[in-house]
Amino acid sequence: MKQAFFNDFESASTGFKQAFVECGRRRSAEFEANCEQVFDLSASDGMLFSWVGTLKRTAKVAGGRALAVLSSGVHGIEGFAGSAIQSCLLNQDTWFGGLSRTDFCFIHGVNPWGMLHRERTDSDNVDLNRNSHSDVNLFQQKNPWLFPFLPLLSPNAPVRQSQLESELLWFGRLLAKILKNGVRRSTLAATGGHYQYPDTLFYGGASRSQHLDRLLEALRGLIAQYDVVTLIDFHTGLGKKSEVTLLLPEISPADRASWELLVGDFHHSFEVRREPVVPGVFSEWLAKELKPKKQGFGFVYEVGTLGKGGLRDNLRSLRRMVRLNQGRHWGWESLATEQRDRELFQELFFPSCLMWREQLLRRAQFCVPQLLSAAEQQC
Ligand SMILES: [Zn+2]
Repeated sequence: MKQAFFNDFESASTGFKQAFVECGRRRSAEFEANCEQVFDLSASDGMLFSWVGTLKRTAKVAGGRALAVLSSGVHGIEGFAGSAIQSCLLNQDTWFGGLSRTDFCFIHGVNPWGMLHRERTDSDNVDLNRNSHSDVNLFQQKNPWLFPFLPLLSPNAPVRQSQLESELLWFGRLLAKILKNGVRRSTLAATGGHYQYPDTLFYGGASRSQHLDRLLEALRGLIAQYDVVTLIDFHTGLGKKSEVTLLLPEISPADRASWELLVGDFHHSFEVRREPVVPGVFSEWLAKELKPKKQGFGFVYEVGTLGKGGLRDNLRSLRRMVRLNQGRHWGWESLATEQRDRELFQELFFPSCLMWREQLLRRAQFCVPQLLSAAEQQC
């Protein structure tokens, strides 16, 4: 099996490009392949870019046309797993045979700065999965639940070495707040996104990222009018370890029937979840912006990395994110503490466990073709 996993941005990016070019070559009788760099002008670290690779069928197809957009790295560090899925799907492309009217668009490293620095956000601490809006008024929106949680989510002091006593204190305080505010409000406070506190986790920015605008521009030019567009945006860190969870957007009553047709059969294969609605989700925004003739489906495809993915595991994940974010803004007490926090953060979003990695690819090879084939049938 060809290498799909890489541990740094440059190798992952080169590995993806190679997999894309080779796949295009193998499939040149059916597809016209094109791969372009879209530069991240806001990044100060030299020439950082995302790849946008398209495979378009050369022959005319009967009936409607579908487009599959498979994206990675909206949350920087999570892009290493997403990149591996993309390369694996390109390296082992026999599944293309099950689709007859679908073209493909791979977006590699939507947030290249985050991948390079192994962070979730971009260089301005903006979470791109809370930043993908078309309505500028949303950047004025206030998260009504966040304020009481701020001291725990955004402590303003250097990060100290992790000690059992201080950690228990942090979890105890957080649990007290959850009991007071309820689980739903607390979840929205912590992960629901906000536009008020640039140093705090899940900050959605003051305006839409320029890099997202450039990606959208590139996609508008590349993509003709498709009937059905399905976006699968690969993420890690949420849900049961190694399992796939598909998060659905808010669905209008008019679109409900086609969504049910698409995901209805999958409840047995993987978990399909309707999470509290969060503003600024990349896949949802892109599905709307690209305006297919008939239907746009935008999924967040999550692969769990920690335990059973229940409340306890979610709190452990949150703690790791809080420590890293705190260190980024206030520094660490010692280098050893920083290294430990970075290791735990990396394990949360890109586990080193070989079994996890094997499962990640195996499940993607099973789930992605199934979903795209169901979407194609809606053309
Ligand atoms: Zn993510």
